Amino acid sequence: MPSTLRNTVRASIAADKVVPAVQAEASPSEIFGRDVFSMKVMRERLPKNVYSRLEQCVAGGASLQESDADVVAGAMRDWAIERGATHYTHWFQPLTGATAEKHDAFLTPSPFGGEQIISEFSGKMLIKGEPDASSFPSGGIRSTFEARGYTVWDPTSPAFLIASGSGKTLYIPCIFLSYTGESLDSKTPLLRALDAVSKQSLRVLRLFGNSTATKVDAMVGSEQEYFLIDRRYYNLRTDIMLSGRTVFGARPCKGQELEDQYFGAISPRVIAYMTDVEERLLTLGIPARTRHNEVAPGQYELAPMFESANIAVDHNMLTMQIMSDTAAEHGFACLLHEKPFAGINGSGKHNNWSLCDSDGNNLLDPGNTPLDNAQFLVFLAAVLRAVHKHSIVLRLGIVGAGNDHRLGANEAPPAILSVFLGEQLKDIVESLAAGRPGKSGSSGGIMEVGVSSLPKLPKDSTDRNRTSPFAFTGNKFEFRAVGASQSIAPANIALSAAVADALDDIATELEDALKNGATLTSAVQALLAKLFREHQAIIFNGNGYAEEWQAEAAKRGLPNLKDTVSAVQHYSDPEIIGIYKRQGILSEREILARQEVLLENYVKDVHVETKLVQVIGRSVILPAALKFAAEISAYAAGGKQSGHPALSRYLGDISSRIESLLKTLDVLDAKHRELDAIEEFIDKALAARDKLLPLLAECRDHVDALEGVLDDASWPLPKYNEMLWQH
Ligand code: ADP
Ligand code: MG
Repeated sequence: MPSTLRNTVRASIAADKVVPAVQAEASPSEIFGRDVFSMKVMRERLPKNVYSRLEQCVAGGASLQESDADVVAGAMRDWAIERGATHYTHWFQPLTGATAEKHDAFLTPSPFGGEQIISEFSGKMLIKGEPDASSFPSGGIRSTFEARGYTVWDPTSPAFLIASGSGKTLYIPCIFLSYTGESLDSKTPLLRALDAVSKQSLRVLRLFGNSTATKVDAMVGSEQEYFLIDRRYYNLRTDIMLSGRTVFGARPCKGQELEDQYFGAISPRVIAYMTDVEERLLTLGIPARTRHNEVAPGQYELAPMFESANIAVDHNMLTMQIMSDTAAEHGFACLLHEKPFAGINGSGKHNNWSLCDSDGNNLLDPGNTPLDNAQFLVFLAAVLRAVHKHSIVLRLGIVGAGNDHRLGANEAPPAILSVFLGEQLKDIVESLAAGRPGKSGSSGGIMEVGVSSLPKLPKDSTDRNRTSPFAFTGNKFEFRAVGASQSIAPANIALSAAVADALDDIATELEDALKNGATLTSAVQALLAKLFREHQAIIFNGNGYAEEWQAEAAKRGLPNLKDTVSAVQHYSDPEIIGIYKRQGILSEREILARQEVLLENYVKDVHVETKLVQVIGRSVILPAALKFAAEISAYAAGGKQSGHPALSRYLGDISSRIESLLKTLDVLDAKHRELDAIEEFIDKALAARDKLLPLLAECRDHVDALEGVLDDASWPLPKYNEMLWQH
């Protein structure tokens, strides 16, 4: 066999012994939250009065006095150093979509010489940091003369420790602002959006006589899909390393057709990895709960227990980080891209979402009494209104070049937003809208809000809801169109903004009706009838993957923004800006900045893939193909079979693919260069989408065809067959 790197790696993988399953070292309850500077730890370590002021600050958004911050910083530092920390970092989430950190030592040598070491970590340093931020994307908000951005401690998300090298680092979750106070990250608008949804929910709860709740939290549990491949293959796939996905690769002989991977037995090597990941997550207070194989070969899922949205966002970022780091230690690469492999399922994230008041009541739980039922229906109406009226806002929460490969590709919900309710709830909504008795209403007559009870709603267990981008699953909604590699912050900002705005309308309408002398139940009955009529078009219980749905959705007037560029153009629509401004989440300048950054990110992603196709196409694929073609021609010219039509066809196929690949690469080079001259981001993004992507697909077609006919032993790249099935 020729000594290609691929062959060496294949031999080494074939010689691997089975890895035994690792047992978790400690029980989950022993290690849970061990490395978190939690409220519980703070209560133990802080003076009573400081702790209670901090608690108020966490609950109600008041800011901490500097003297208290010094005390908290001291306690945090001592706790961290006792556990072996040498450094601390402000940890934030800039608009790159990733996290960022800059480590500083707790201990520095004294400037006065000698052995002396002084410790530097004051309240000021806890609360505010100034990373050298000039190279983070700001969408033009931060012109160079005010290049500084600063990070500010977010006390609502606890600090934690992560082992790094021989020591540990204290991570302090922060928001990231420009010098002029505008947000440069996704956490600031998230916190503002969560405040908005809390405020508007409380208005509605008060009308229902609730005087005790002080806050309403969005609760989120995000199921995370991912692929694992052997790291030795990963190291030979520059495309996966740099872009997260394979730009070339013929379909495997066995894909996911047999569905024998889904919920199948997990291999011992993968179990060992998962056990390790879960243990690390637990020490960070991340409640990892379930794990299983997913539909595609080599694909898995991890789901945590739900938590308050702000923490869930941070925890999901950490989860992705830990999954990737741990994979390297286990000889795997963890692929979080939405579509690492063409022709088999991609990976998404299910953002399970509900609203919970500070007394612990889930507002999306239908409840038991007629009044609870009525309140549930009002919140249900708010969600329907949010998804229908602000569908584009939600679409903007899931944009990204990676997710474009997935949405609407017969495996993920389409880019059209619709809501799945299940038959029974849909019937209730329809009968309230029409003022007619429901089929399943327990009273048999017209449902009287506040008087009649809802029938028990069974948890929908049909397969249909799996094809819906936004499904009601008993006491929560699942927003299923989020991409696997994406932060869930944008999706939750969008969702909170849309729901807050819908609740705002609803609260105003109910308040007005009550002022005009209506009773609560009659006002609610009228409101529900009106809203359910108005928003019936967003309800769809059918198969979201079906072709016909696209046409039906168009008839209903539902937008179908198929890709990132089409969607992002709407960011600057007056309605979109209006919602964010009204709910106090983003200013116009902040929105326009985000639009620019999203377009820029899109162009960068396509640019990287273009470079990969050019470089791998010319320097890896073509040399192998030309060498092989030369061997075949020599054989055909000299051998007895020369002139045999099948052999000529074989050779002809190879030559014509080689020529076409060369030609397409030339066109790609030219079109790629044209992009440099385009000034506006929107025009660049449009050109990337319309001019480059089709050429990338064309190059891929030629390369994948060559992969199918060239000598397997001298093919330079690890193949799908190998990467997907060898664990
Ligand atoms: P499945 O979707 O497989 O039926 P579950 O419904 O139990 O599984 O949970 C899926 C995810 O939804 C988990 O992360 C879980 O913690 C989360 N979840 C469950 N209840 C809620 C809720 N009320 N609000 C938000 N997330 C929830
Ligand atoms: Mg689910």
